[in-house]
Amino acid sequence: DTLESANGYLTSHESNPPRLHHFIDGYFGNNSESGKWIESINPRSGKLLLQIPSGTVTDVDRAVDAASRAFPAWSKTSRQERSQVLIRISDILNEQKELFAVWESIDQGKTLARARVEVERAVSNFRYFATYILHEEGAVRYVDGQPSTLTYENRSPLGVFGLISPWNMPLYLLTWKIAPCIAFGCTGVAKPSEVTSITAFLLCEVFRQAKLPVGVMNLVFGDGPGTGSALVKSPRVRGVSFTGGTSTGIRIRQDTVADIGKHLSLELGGKNPTLVFDDVELTKAVPLAARAAFENSGQICLCGSRIYVQRAVYGKFLPALAEYVQTHYKLGETMGPVVSREHYMKVRSYLVQAWEENAVFHTGELPDEAPQQGFWITPTVLSGLNTDSRVMREEIFGPVVTVCVFDTEEEAIALANDNPNGLASIVMTNDLARMRRVGECIDSGLVWVNCWLVRELGTGFGGMKASGTGREGGAFSRDVFTNLRTLHVSH
Ligand code: NAD
Repeated sequence: DTLESANGYLTSHESNPPRLHHFIDGYFGNNSESGKWIESINPRSGKLLLQIPSGTVTDVDRAVDAASRAFPAWSKTSRQERSQVLIRISDILNEQKELFAVWESIDQGKTLARARVEVERAVSNFRYFATYILHEEGAVRYVDGQPSTLTYENRSPLGVFGLISPWNMPLYLLTWKIAPCIAFGCTGVAKPSEVTSITAFLLCEVFRQAKLPVGVMNLVFGDGPGTGSALVKSPRVRGVSFTGGTSTGIRIRQDTVADIGKHLSLELGGKNPTLVFDDVELTKAVPLAARAAFENSGQICLCGSRIYVQRAVYGKFLPALAEYVQTHYKLGETMGPVVSREHYMKVRSYLVQAWEENAVFHTGELPDEAPQQGFWITPTVLSGLNTDSRVMREEIFGPVVTVCVFDTEEEAIALANDNPNGLASIVMTNDLARMRRVGECIDSGLVWVNCWLVRELGTGFGGMKASGTGREGGAFSRDVFTNLRTLHVSH
């Protein structure tokens, strides 16, 4: 019942893969009631890593029961009390961050350096919301023209939440939901991706050590159509915070459409443009564009996967990018594999398509049809595709970037916006007026000018168009997890 023993459990089954268990009402449950298990594969080797339970409707119900029982007391705790629990969680996680980073790297395939950054950010998620709730402000005022009537706003925690996360930044994205859920007085049932469940399992042990009251946060493991769908549809689940693919987001919206009062926060996919204007210094622009394209093997929703370069620098930029990628992104050293066989086949299918459309491969090659040992794909820089190619329009979510040319600012904005998604964008220029002109015209929830992946946790995070509904972060998260009532009091 310590993190060391949880770690020991995960490593001590050489011939017999370990099995994760649901965490409900403060306890790790025995076998899933279905008796079915999902295999979790090591992306570096392609071999079986462990098994996770395939949570059933009954498993989800048990977890929702636990969260419902815990809600009345937890929703009445003081902000100070909730803050202290969150601080304890962040402290324990911080003490054990190397253990979490190592498992995240094994499970997801990301480099240890990348995993360390994400675990640090997970610690910050808890710290941020632990202190945010202590500094909330409100105002009482008179209704205009009615000096005997006061008006003010009052919030209460919404209830039980379903928290569902994807496989690309497992602990970071799950804690981005769990921390505000607990902080704002809600209880919840979290379901990590079936592809990467290990750090969520270890996090449950942190909850126990931090003495998070039983039932406040429960975890069920399993896939989307079975476990995730049961969670979303449960009428006792009053809100869903979901991060994942756009098609899943649409499905969740359909599945909850009749439950009008259910809060829905959907953080979905992207096909993010990087605009490189001709006044930039290539020594800065090339590494930034490369990092934005290939960090975590291109498996970050915010990756800049469509690069547009102004004509005067295009001829120099493209070979410089290819050379930079070849020297700095080495498989097995500075770059990991993609997460799974299924995802490998998906990314490969786009590369086949690019090949058939006569794209130029400046780096990279067609991956083998059947990966032999792990799911390795060489970072690939493509050019020569038409703007209506699927490779240019759809989210690939792998180490693949396309490069195109543009002439004018207007054209750059039009190209950036010519996509159903609107999550993030990157603008590179040294012209301050242009930074604002272009930055304020792009239809994306996040715009980074001369930088990428910078986050300030109090600002809104989320997408426009098909990239999502709602925002999270600071007061935006408060709106997701609480109900607002406006009072008018006459005397
Ligand atoms: P996914 O949509 O396949 O799965 C995400 C989660 O949803 C998993 O836990 C899955 O089990 C669950 N799920 C699947 N079907 C479900 C259903 N019908 N009901 C309820 N839950 C269901 O996404 P993925 O492949 O794990 O992750 C990659 C996607 O996530 C990419 O599109 C990426 O852009 C997106 N993403 C978005 C953000 C963001 O903040 N906007 C961040 C990271 C990843």
